[in-house]
Amino acid sequence: MKFYMHLLWAAVPILCFFLLAFPVQSGSQQKPAFRVLAFYTDKGEPDHIEYAKQAQAFYSDLAKKHNFSFEATTHWEDLNSEKLKNIQIVMWINDFPQKPEQRAAFENYMKNGGAWLGFHVSAYNDEDTHWPWLLEFLGGGVFYGNEWPPLPAKLFVDDRTHPATRRLGATLDAPANEWYLWKPSPRLNKDVKVLLTLSPENYPIGLKDALTEGDLPVVWTNTKFRMIYMNMGHGDKIFTGAEQNKLFEDALLWLGNKK
Ligand code: ZN
Repeated sequence: MKFYMHLLWAAVPILCFFLLAFPVQSGSQQKPAFRVLAFYTDKGEPDHIEYAKQAQAFYSDLAKKHNFSFEATTHWEDLNSEKLKNIQIVMWINDFPQKPEQRAAFENYMKNGGAWLGFHVSAYNDEDTHWPWLLEFLGGGVFYGNEWPPLPAKLFVDDRTHPATRRLGATLDAPANEWYLWKPSPRLNKDVKVLLTLSPENYPIGLKDALTEGDLPVVWTNTKFRMIYMNMGHGDKIFTGAEQNKLFEDALLWLGNKK
């Protein structure tokens, strides 16, 4: 018996060593499920900067909830191949890259399986943008006009089978946003799947500038890429809609979980 007791005591330091060397991992120390790098600007329209701030808070909270990593920067030079190697989702909050090398790095990233979530101004393009690939990537819609001031709107959910929209009803009451119209409508592109559309019952929408008609997709994906564009992104009301927040959550999780 005495012999066995000695053996037991001898085992204690060995056990302590293993506990110290290989601590049980707690939730916060787990390897993130995926990494998000968000680009935004802190210059320009105050309502866009405010949205960028709120989007960072919203997605930082989600990162804790779903165990992914979320980093945000105004430093667009980080849009380079070296940095993107470890990034599973690139987010553009209210801006887009200007420099050829940044654009090239992003094209290369998306063509090789990267994922993108873009808001509001991130899809803005006109004859001065000089980036034909971006237009193709977005599905072909050039910025045509906007309504003003930002207003709430009823949205029609086109596709409730997509992982990003599965928890939504047939319609969605979206909080105040500045809505953009695109010509031609991205819906005309056979590779584009429209997820939400501004319901025609909103027309005319706007006071100072009004949109009176037209097919107005609000959220869509170009199925040739792993991407989702959302027109939301103007002002401090966007995250006040619980239903719409489900869309923001599920869209990001779909992009991050490559199933
Ligand atoms: Zn805006």
